[in-house]
Amino acid sequence: MIVRKIALNGWRNYEFAAAEFSPGTNVITGENAQGKTNLLEAVYLLTGGKSFRTRFDKELIGFGYTSAEVLADVFAFGREQTVRIVLRQGQRKQIWQNGVKKTAAELAGTFAAVLFCPDDLNIIRDGPAARRRMMDMAISQLRPKYGALLAEYSRLYDQKSAILRDWHEKPSLLDTLDDFSDQMCRVSAKLIRYRAAYASRLNIAAAPIHADFSGGRDKLTLAYRTVSTVVDALGTEKEIYYALCDHQEQHRRAELDSGQCLTGAHKDDLIISINGQSARAFASQGQTRTAVISLKLAERALLRQGTGETPVLLLDDVLSELDAGRQDFVLNQLREGQVFITCCETDRLTSLGQVLSIRSGTIGGAQ
Ligand code: ATP
Ligand code: MG
Repeated sequence: MIVRKIALNGWRNYEFAAAEFSPGTNVITGENAQGKTNLLEAVYLLTGGKSFRTRFDKELIGFGYTSAEVLADVFAFGREQTVRIVLRQGQRKQIWQNGVKKTAAELAGTFAAVLFCPDDLNIIRDGPAARRRMMDMAISQLRPKYGALLAEYSRLYDQKSAILRDWHEKPSLLDTLDDFSDQMCRVSAKLIRYRAAYASRLNIAAAPIHADFSGGRDKLTLAYRTVSTVVDALGTEKEIYYALCDHQEQHRRAELDSGQCLTGAHKDDLIISINGQSARAFASQGQTRTAVISLKLAERALLRQGTGETPVLLLDDVLSELDAGRQDFVLNQLREGQVFITCCETDRLTSLGQVLSIRSGTIGGAQ
């Protein structure tokens, strides 16, 4: 997959800017706060209309503007395509692909990209939500129906949480509690199967990348962890559903007492270990970065397998904290597919591909 051109209008700090990209490596240079990450964010938007930095579309609109537009020519699934995304204050975003209106989920199946940015180090450092989010963002690109399942789960979770919070004041709310619990078990069973299958494939794909990356020193392993009654998260949807119902029944009283949903896919985690020890507890800064980049490169390999095309790789400030050997490993990964890599200093990376220099929301050096 290739982004050939992009035009940005009222996007973040870009008043108006347009650029053509190389189908190989694009080196995005510039001083701090000039718009490098904002440009990567615009490219990432093409994967499904979502930012990797914020849930709030209004933050993407330039200060003082009422709307933002991202227009791109991409090559994906064997053909040239256009994607246009318009964000307006207080309105739902609008997406067109080849001039035809699309939903965000439909766009997710059309163009794929893998991103590494410094915030991704939270995948190791933060709580389970960061790891679920990593899996959810990757699976959404692989399985277009997954995004709709996630949205349904989040709606059920909110409704059940409201019942558990308010039933003391309004006992009639309890009439629908069991129905919501059952629906959450059904949707959870689907989500858990998708995630467990993805985690298992990610584990297989990431281990050799990580071994190579760390010069054979570190062994990375991933294990999906879900609700305790689910013995086999790769089992059938029915088996998982029944196991979830058991857990739900055991925790019904505790849910009423605590006012919280205690069962379901919203509590799952991906346990990441390096040499058998918890990466969250023990990994050094360089080891953390190495592990996260390995996960992202593995994600790229799985997307390539799943879609038949190499996804675009977006690398934001990827080299810091890595020793020379590990930096070389990353730079060797740039040979395949289209890559966007940001850096502040120009010396080391400029020979790697087309250079785009960003200054105050303008893109220079693009041909
Ligand atoms: P660094 O090297 O520090 O990572 P960068 O070039 O990646 O810098 P960006 O994160 O792209 O910088 O941000 C560039 C500028 O855009 C920042 O000064 C930021 O405050 C500004 N900015 C962010 N959102 C908006 C917005 N909605 N409207 C206008 N400017 C914005
Ligand atoms: Mg940045």
